[in-house]
Amino acid sequence: MEWETVIGLEVHVQLSTKSKLFSGSSIKFGAEPNTQASIFDLALPGTLPVFNKEALAKAVKFGVAIGAEISKRSVFDRKNYFYPDLPKGYQVTQLDYPTVGKGELAVTMDDGNERVIGITRAHMEEDAGKSLHEDYQGMSGIDLNRAGTPLLEIVSEPDLRTAREAVAFLKKLHSIIRYLDISDAIMAEGSMRCDANVSIRPVGETEYGTRTEIKNINSFRFVEKAINYEVQRQQGVLEDGGRIVQETRLYDADKDETRPMRSKEVANDYRYFPEPDLLPIVIDDEYIEAIRAQLPEMPDAKKARFIEEYSLSDYDAGVLVSSREIAEYFEVVASQSGDAKLAANWVSQDLMGLLNKSNLDISKSPVQAERLAMLVTRIKDNTISGKIAKTVFETMVEDSSSVDEIIAKKGLKQVTDSGEIEKIVDEVITNNPEQAQQYRDGKEQVIGFLVGQAMKLSKGKANPAAVNELLRKKLA
Ligand code: ADP
Ligand code: MG
Repeated sequence: MEWETVIGLEVHVQLSTKSKLFSGSSIKFGAEPNTQASIFDLALPGTLPVFNKEALAKAVKFGVAIGAEISKRSVFDRKNYFYPDLPKGYQVTQLDYPTVGKGELAVTMDDGNERVIGITRAHMEEDAGKSLHEDYQGMSGIDLNRAGTPLLEIVSEPDLRTAREAVAFLKKLHSIIRYLDISDAIMAEGSMRCDANVSIRPVGETEYGTRTEIKNINSFRFVEKAINYEVQRQQGVLEDGGRIVQETRLYDADKDETRPMRSKEVANDYRYFPEPDLLPIVIDDEYIEAIRAQLPEMPDAKKARFIEEYSLSDYDAGVLVSSREIAEYFEVVASQSGDAKLAANWVSQDLMGLLNKSNLDISKSPVQAERLAMLVTRIKDNTISGKIAKTVFETMVEDSSSVDEIIAKKGLKQVTDSGEIEKIVDEVITNNPEQAQQYRDGKEQVIGFLVGQAMKLSKGKANPAAVNELLRKKLA
């Protein structure tokens, strides 16, 4: 039987406010346990929440950016459950009246086609603390630094059909969140977390199958692996005549498998009710428009502009706008060198290759945009060939001298002096009489071989166009 996969994601991002959603404690990552937990975060009796408006501004910013419905009135609810890292005994979240309602996200998939994925809602809620199991023999440690950190939970419709699509969607979401600067969205640090709901159904079936929910997957790669594992597992169960139990599962990256965590609580178990200590949030058009006015140029608009303004291919433009910082870097290189095509190649291939290989963020790039612009300028004005430029680039990573200094120091300057080129060309013709004759006999393509020999002889420094011209003249 042929199966179709159905996936819906629930993505939590920690909003990058200074303080918590309902208290003044800092939300900075990496502090000593329990140094960022106020009496409210500890749930001491008599303490009351004070709503952080900055979180609202960031949530609305997200909603406006994706063109979603924004609720003029949203309401916080209590979701009751017991857990050691939740001292209040409930999480404050938004159930029936989320701040951001229905929206859409256009995602370019692997095959280059664009698909529109529905966004069900995005609501604000507070994060829980952390239970620490390592380092405590027979006990658990509780760190409440994270308790009360503002989260935006973004829920997608079950519109995704493959693990790769889910990753493409998540990456698009990540890029939008980073463009908006509403969260660090670092999966490895937990400031962006993803739960994947997965089911399968026979191809052609219109009803959805029973789903499982895989919790807390902490990298793009694991999202793909966890979903693929889960799809295989469900297929195995169904093909053996079994049925899928709706449950929460955990992805174990070491074993590359999912395991049951707990059977899914029915929503009713949480005894949701409106939070009596907080008023509904009421906003007006003026508020929404003021936020809209702060939106930066978003990735899709930037991509369209890059294609139009710099004549880039759809693919190149897509790579360059994937991060706001890379796009900005590219624009510096393009404008300072005056060659957008070359700039695009160098940024998307050489620079991004270097950053990937050394696992560096572009903000830590050993080669600044201005220096790369100078390198591109030197290719453009024929001081060096594209090939030699690769050598210069490698040197630039370790040597902070200017591009011109490196070229001079290493003697890499392109030979454009016609006397010198003539010497090289003569030598090539003498050394390759057979090919020279073939060319004279009309075998055009042999010229490529001869130019190659000249380039080799000059250690890549001869200007290929000049070599080509002179060779043709001499052999004519
Ligand atoms: P809950 O509130 O119990 O988490 P929801 O109905 O709100 O359940 O769905 C949560 C997520 O599960 C959404 O992202 C949704 O797209 C996804 N989802 C719902 N049904 C299915 C299904 N049959 N297969 C895969 N994903 C699903
Ligand atoms: Mg859920």
